[in-house]
Amino acid sequence: MRPRTVTQSAGRAPRWVLGVSSFVMLAACDRPGPEAAGSKPPPIRGESEPMDQDAPSKNTRKPPPAPAEAPAHPRQAERERMIAEQIEARGVTDPRVLTAMAKVPRHRFVPEAYQAEAYADHPLPIGHGVTISQPYIVALMTELADVQPGEKVLEVGTGSGYQAAILAELGARVYTIEVLEPLATKARALLHELGYDRVVVRHGDGYGGWPEQAPFDAIVVTAAPPKVPEALRVQLADGGRLVIPVGRGAQELKVITRRGDRFSERTVIPVRFVPMVHGDPGMEP
Ligand code: SAH
Repeated sequence: MRPRTVTQSAGRAPRWVLGVSSFVMLAACDRPGPEAAGSKPPPIRGESEPMDQDAPSKNTRKPPPAPAEAPAHPRQAERERMIAEQIEARGVTDPRVLTAMAKVPRHRFVPEAYQAEAYADHPLPIGHGVTISQPYIVALMTELADVQPGEKVLEVGTGSGYQAAILAELGARVYTIEVLEPLATKARALLHELGYDRVVVRHGDGYGGWPEQAPFDAIVVTAAPPKVPEALRVQLADGGRLVIPVGRGAQELKVITRRGDRFSERTVIPVRFVPMVHGDPGMEP
């Protein structure tokens, strides 16, 4: 569909993944049609349904099965399939990342119209011309960020709030910046509703990072600047990791690691994210 030349690749993704990675963060108009979106979601697995323990029982017969519309973990089976087929199969194996991906209800972060495709192997539009990343890319970036419990993490490009929720599941203290005010407001409310109320969402321009909260143990950028913003590099803690797609047109996912005043950089895979834009003058920070 989109012929492309892979000029550089490295890291854990096997060669066959590179074609798939070109799906990453496609613009809203570039997503595959419904016929390509995947098969019917499988039914929710029986074991995730709550037991009907409060039902009055006059005899010793087993209680009837709980109603199918109230599973304890809606769409858990879809998440497990997503992890096995899209994520582990491509080499993301950190058990903490996989556990986080299994827990966060991705379908809550996508618009109604795309609910059925929430666990499919591609990005989805979330309005305002931007997209929630493909699940594999969220998992890969999270693994590359190597976040430990209690670490302080900055995300640039809150979007739906999904990546922020995954980082929060790893036990990170998450600060996330979104340039589009309606998205920041919506993500803040949803994260709060789902219990990720320690995630701090700010409406602002992420090019400047978040100096008041720096330094960060990890910075995850989910929109692509033409080159690595100096402010983000500077706001890394010693030992900190910056995971960032870089480039206009052809982009590469990079990991920059700080050791003292030295920065090492490696390129992981070619990717395609929405561009990182500059906010209105006067916008915070
Ligand atoms: N991480 C998101 C997806 C991000 S899409 C998720 O999990 O859903 C990229 C986001 O980056 C968009 O919401 C876009 O508005 C935002 N963005 C672009 N330029 C930005 C900037 N300079 N500062 C902060 N956010 C920016």
